[in-house]
Amino acid sequence: MTANSQWNGQFSCFDLVAKTAECSHTIVHVGELAIGGGSFVVMAGPCAVESERQLLETAEAVAAAGARVLRGGAYKPRSSPYSFQGLGVEGLKLLSKARKQTGLAIVTEVMSERDVEVIAEYADIMQVGTRSMENYSLLEALGRCGRPVLLKRGMTARLEELLQSAQIIAASGNPEIILCERGIRTFETATRNTLDIAAVPVLKTVSRLPVIVDPSHAAGVRSLVPVLSRAAAVVGADGLLVEVHPDPEKALSDGMQSLAFDEFEDMMCDLRRYVAIPPALEDVRPRLLVAGGTH
Ligand code: PEP
Ligand code: MN
Repeated sequence: MTANSQWNGQFSCFDLVAKTAECSHTIVHVGELAIGGGSFVVMAGPCAVESERQLLETAEAVAAAGARVLRGGAYKPRSSPYSFQGLGVEGLKLLSKARKQTGLAIVTEVMSERDVEVIAEYADIMQVGTRSMENYSLLEALGRCGRPVLLKRGMTARLEELLQSAQIIAASGNPEIILCERGIRTFETATRNTLDIAAVPVLKTVSRLPVIVDPSHAAGVRSLVPVLSRAAAVVGADGLLVEVHPDPEKALSDGMQSLAFDEFEDMMCDLRRYVAIPPALEDVRPRLLVAGGTH
């Protein structure tokens, strides 16, 4: 922030999504589901929609284990043009079939402004990936899409920048936003990204928006996912976004970090006692709130 800006005042660059005396938190409603209203909402499914069988089996398994939202990319941001790019509209149709079959809500990624309309026809929640957090024309289009947005933190973005991106969506007409911490780039290579666990209490303190954690893209390996999920629950996250696959070794993307069905089920059981611990957020006063901001 600049020297004379205030996080919560008239100069604020994210006042529309800031926590205020009048509005301490927003609840994002997706059908019967309330995200940010005190319950811990787990969104789970494959990195990419690969086939009808893969998706429907996964949907059944994650629903039985207690997930409330099915994730799955139909449009995939891949760093190589030779990698699987996703099934596109075909993938969206499979997601909507899975919703019909299981009652799970659907979250799926939108990469381009061009695809907003078609994805909004099928999805319940529009996911903005880490690479798109600064795609401002996409954010503006999502402000008019009529669906809640799951906004992932850019892998090199500060929290203030994440909140500014949320502000763009809100200023474009859509206050239904869920923030997602998914790990950031640091010098550490032992994990795929560095999970910034402090992002959760910081965001929950300065912002009114629900905050979830994606332990899969932070970890990069499945063995770390359950313990990072525990951490997310304990620091007060409103939920998780987790990758699950019927046969992770054969996944077309992100198999190494995807949980098998039994591992996901075990994790969901394990998480119960951590979710029950009330987060200690009363005295959190992040630097973002201190006069002079973060610089
Ligand atoms: C994903 O959720 O599959 C994904 C591509 O995530 P991210 O944008 O965080 O890399
Ligand atoms: Mn993935």
